[in-house]
Amino acid sequence: MAFKDLFATKFRAPWASFFASAENREEIAGQLEELLLLADIALPVVERIMANIAKKAKNRDGKEETLELLRQELLAVFAGQRRSSLAAGEKNVILLVGVNGSGKTTSAAKLARYYQDRGQRVLLAAGDTFRAAGSSQLGLWGEKLGIPVVSGERGADPGSVIFNAMQSWASKDLDLLVIDTAGRMQSKENLMRELEKITKIIGKFSSRQPAETWLVLDASTGQNALVQAEKFREFSGINGLLLAKLDGSAKGGGVISIAAQMRLPVLFVGTGEGPGDLWEFDAGEFVDSLLAG
Ligand code: GDP
Repeated sequence: MAFKDLFATKFRAPWASFFASAENREEIAGQLEELLLLADIALPVVERIMANIAKKAKNRDGKEETLELLRQELLAVFAGQRRSSLAAGEKNVILLVGVNGSGKTTSAAKLARYYQDRGQRVLLAAGDTFRAAGSSQLGLWGEKLGIPVVSGERGADPGSVIFNAMQSWASKDLDLLVIDTAGRMQSKENLMRELEKITKIIGKFSSRQPAETWLVLDASTGQNALVQAEKFREFSGINGLLLAKLDGSAKGGGVISIAAQMRLPVLFVGTGEGPGDLWEFDAGEFVDSLLAG
């Protein structure tokens, strides 16, 4: 399936009825607002979108006009966001951070495969030495995908695992290192400090690295995502988002809420537990697919 088809089917039915039953501007606005809320877009974001549309709308019963203004508003949410642009032949490190269960380990494996499929020589690092299954889970992924994994014993210092992985990456003919880290609550200061240390270790090998530090968020996290992002940004300088479990949040509205409220680009989205369920995010195609039908 193509990225642009992922969301289309979920929205088709509501849009069709939206066109059928609204008669005047008030009804159009009322139904649109309801639809956006049903799509899991956060209330403050819906209110902002509705206010902007009301300001710009000219026709009394302009359904087409309203949809076009909505398209513009949704695109504006992603305006100025960069795409991830990790080219083969360049050496890069992606550090994945986030709270427990957000999808980091699975996403690390999917990313490794994504870039391997695009001709990069990839190494994985199991920086999650905290969870009993942390390293072994990534190890299994590595076996399945034919991608080497650097790991340590359970309870080992994640810094030493990452040091070893960086050494391999720096000395061998490898393009990309994807580092999984232990899940940590943003409120636990000591674990956040550990993240700071990890970033420093990586930086010692190359001042340009980690070129990418991505916060992995469960796409249905809602408002708490903002709090998480602020704390993680303080300790690890995140510069992008990977939204996992978009298949679970059903409607894609979480992506809009998160992008509208954070000044961070959405770079990848995860849509399942399989190795191929990862998509490079394309705002234009995403908005088109939401509004299709
Ligand atoms: P971590 O604790 O952040 O490393 O999270 P994991 O990668 O272990 O993922 C937690 C659970 O979410 C696992 O059962 C994964 O299979 C599942 N998961 C991860 N990404 C996705 C996704 O995009 N869609 C779905 N449906 N499940 C996912």
